[in-house]
Amino acid sequence: MEKTFRNYDQSDVTTAVRNHYRKMRQKQTLEYVRRMQKKYLTFDKPMDLWDAMAHLNDLIDVSDPDLDLPNVQHLIQSAEAIRADDRPDWMQLTGLIHDLGKVLFLWGSDEDGTSQDEQWGTVGDVFVVGCALPDSCVYPEFNTLNPDMADERYNSDTGIYKAGCGLDNLTLAWGHDEYLFQVLRKHSDNKLPEEAMVMIRYHSFYPWHTGGSYAKLLHEKDQRYLKIIRDFNKYDLYTKSSKAYDLDEVKEYYRPIADKYLGTGPIYW
Ligand code: FE
Ligand code: FE
Repeated sequence: MEKTFRNYDQSDVTTAVRNHYRKMRQKQTLEYVRRMQKKYLTFDKPMDLWDAMAHLNDLIDVSDPDLDLPNVQHLIQSAEAIRADDRPDWMQLTGLIHDLGKVLFLWGSDEDGTSQDEQWGTVGDVFVVGCALPDSCVYPEFNTLNPDMADERYNSDTGIYKAGCGLDNLTLAWGHDEYLFQVLRKHSDNKLPEEAMVMIRYHSFYPWHTGGSYAKLLHEKDQRYLKIIRDFNKYDLYTKSSKAYDLDEVKEYYRPIADKYLGTGPIYW
C-alpha cells in the first residue's frame, strides 16, 4: 500500500493531534503571540548548532500524524533527500535545520504550550493572527473557539492588516518557524540566502502555501515565496520514513556546510 501523508483520520493518532489543534486554535490569539515574541525572542542563550540538533533527539512532534521518531531524524531525512536530488548546499543545510526552532521546549512551559508535554505553541500548521481564520485550517471546526474570532477588530478578512501588505508584514501563530527565523536573523554569522530564510519562516503556513487562503493580504512578491516554499515542502513532507540515521555519522558531511553559512561559534537563542 502506498504511504499517505498528512492523514489526520487514523484513529490512533487522531485524538492526540485533534486535541493539539483544538488547544492551538483556542489559545493562539494576537495577544498571546505578542506575549510569546516578547518572552522568547531574547537571543541570550548561547547554544551550538550541533547541541541543538542533539536536543531534538528528545522531542517527538505531537502534531505530526506521519512521524513517531525523534525530530532530529526528520531533519536528517529531509536534508538527505535534498542532497540526493543534488540541490544546492545551502538548501541541504536548510533541510537539516528547518525545525530546529523546536528547541524552544528546552526553556518552554506548559502554560505557554512550549514544553515537551504541551506543544500547541511550538508545532503544528500556523495561521495569521489578527484577522479571520480561514476554512483551509486543519480542523476548521475549531476556528470559532478562538476568542479573537468574536472580536470585530480581528475577525474580518483583513483584520488589523492593510490589504496587499504582504506575507512579511503578517503576524503568524507562534511556533518553531518564526522562532528559528528570528534567531538566525539576529545571528551575526548567518550567510544563508533569502530563499533559505523563507523556507524556515513559512514552511508550516499550510493555509497559505497549500490552502490558498489570505488572497487579500498577499503582495505580488509573495508569489516568489510560494514557489520557494512549495519546492521545499516536498522534502519536508514526503521524505518521512522509519529509516533511522546516526547524527554523528551525517555530521561529517554537513559540518563544513554549516560552518560556511552559519560560522563556527554558538547561536544565541
Ligand atoms: Fe516544521
Ligand atoms: Fe519539518
